[in-house]
Amino acid sequence: MPPSWSKRSLAAQAMGKIEPVTKAIVPPIHLATTFIRDEDNAYRSGFSYGRPDNATVREAEAVLAMLEDGAQALLFASGMAAATTVFQALAPGDHVVAPRVMYWGLRSWLASEATRWGLKVDFVETDDLAALEAAVRPGATRLVWIETPANPLWTITDIAGAAEVAHRAGARLAVDSTAASPVHTRPLALGADIVMHAATKVLNGHSDVLAGALVAAREDAFWARVVNIRQSQGAILGPFEAYLLMRGMRTLHLRAAAQAASAQALAEWLSAHPNVARVLYPGLPQHPGHDVAARQMEGGFGFMLSIQVTGGERAAIATAARVSLWKRATSLGGVESLIEHRASVEGPSTPCPPDLLRLSTGIEDAEDLFRDLDEALRGAHA
Ligand SMILES: *Cc1c(COP(=O)(O)O)cnc(C)c1O
Repeated sequence: MPPSWSKRSLAAQAMGKIEPVTKAIVPPIHLATTFIRDEDNAYRSGFSYGRPDNATVREAEAVLAMLEDGAQALLFASGMAAATTVFQALAPGDHVVAPRVMYWGLRSWLASEATRWGLKVDFVETDDLAALEAAVRPGATRLVWIETPANPLWTITDIAGAAEVAHRAGARLAVDSTAASPVHTRPLALGADIVMHAATKVLNGHSDVLAGALVAAREDAFWARVVNIRQSQGAILGPFEAYLLMRGMRTLHLRAAAQAASAQALAEWLSAHPNVARVLYPGLPQHPGHDVAARQMEGGFGFMLSIQVTGGERAAIATAARVSLWKRATSLGGVESLIEHRASVEGPSTPCPPDLLRLSTGIEDAEDLFRDLDEALRGAHA
């Protein structure tokens, strides 16, 4: 297809590729783990074995590289497999800076496993560029990791500003952009070196695939290590999952726009609710990251918000117990709306207040979603 079509058009047709033998407009799923060698012993097709590469995975990667304007995308068996590969590509003794507010699974891996690999990890408030500047050590810091909007407070980090700080110190900037999706933010265009997605979430969008992605701004020596680690450690996504992910990404733009519009409406309605003490959503002018978010996000502020319930932890858990349309479950980004009391998931090291409920907005009717929450909040406070 000509490259002038919009990202939405290219994603809708998964790059418009037609299967050459049957002319099918839906690509087949390539399940083979091994491939015939040419008579001269070469592998001209580029495929030799299932662990380094797979044709269906490559097709999904092409969609993602297009969406992020990256040089190459790589898909992994989970978001965590993708994220940890970036840290494993560093050398023992390297210093990394990560946010205090971030996806808890990666925060706890960094605090435990990563340090056993010899990495030195400092956690800072990356939404404060002066604090980030003070935390990087020129020549020793090799990676600055940020997440924006960041779980579960939806903290916003200035990607362009963080890229400048990282690059001045000789470090790379990697961005966990799961909650923004390529529809709302394109970190590589803002100066980041690597984008990471838990593709399990809004990229797939249907809560039926576990997948992770990395997209590189350029294919340099560091990226070659990332490619090698995925291949040698066997962290590639399976072909069936890659097919489902590609199917999900065809509707990404429609889902992301609808989910962000509903999240914005819910944030505004909940701000006026008598049983809600605080709404955390970057689309609200009173959110501390609103101005930066308005600069670096387009087409909305994403599908994630959190509320702090009046009456503390007990009222928060009682509210979650009373919903009916919202589903009480972990994860995010799917077409179905999910509610979760995060502090009890994240444990004692969490920056998450005990009265907080995390809301992942799906594609249901926004007024139904509000009515269900309103009834649950009122019931929990009766
Ligand atoms: C879910 C999530 C991850 C981890 O992804 P998995 O696919 O569950 O391994 C990482 N970062 C963010 C922001 C997430 O929401």
